Amino acid sequence: MAEEQPFDLLAVAQAFVHKGYQASVFAAAEEAVHYLQSQIQGVSVGFGDSATLQKLALYEALSANNQVIDPQHPKTGQDFFTVAKQCLLTQVFITSVNAASVTGELVNLDGTGNRVAGSLFGHEKVYFVLGRNKLTGSLDQAVWRTRNVAAPQNAKRLGLKTPCAVTGKCSDCNSPDRICNGLMIYLRCMQDIKMEVVLIDQDLGY
Ligand code: SF4
Repeated sequence: MAEEQPFDLLAVAQAFVHKGYQASVFAAAEEAVHYLQSQIQGVSVGFGDSATLQKLALYEALSANNQVIDPQHPKTGQDFFTVAKQCLLTQVFITSVNAASVTGELVNLDGTGNRVAGSLFGHEKVYFVLGRNKLTGSLDQAVWRTRNVAAPQNAKRLGLKTPCAVTGKCSDCNSPDRICNGLMIYLRCMQDIKMEVVLIDQDLGY
């Protein structure tokens, strides 16, 4: 299934606003990082596993003015599950998505569930930070991208023992390392929680 590019990010942002999200658009990653630094100050911040956030060095950018917790960061110094649970109790939660539709839906695939769990409930605000490469023309294409592009690339990035980490293609494996366990489609902004979609006009993450 071919992916359509490029999309009008301002129009995409409007689609998310229509579904109850706040939305912001930035031409470059540096601008988005500065924006997030200005918006997030003096709070606890939990991270959901994300190559995009790593690429932005967001942990370092936010740590000066916040208590930031990232289960994947080398400075964390504790085991993944302990830190991932702490991330569920922070004031702010930041993650990315595996795909987003220009019609205003987000899609995430999760192996352990911490990323999806943290993105749904319990925080004052959730940010979804994503590059233009995550955008697709429809929800069906977003789900397809998640299973056939994002998951194999993330399996390879994480050094997992899955067929897709070698072949680059999903074979719906039964591997103990399988990361495709829970598929979350965010149809609209959840009730009683602020959620912002931060769109960046660069390719970021997988
Ligand atoms: S189901 Fe298995 S082979 Fe397919 S993308 Fe997920 S981890 Fe890779």
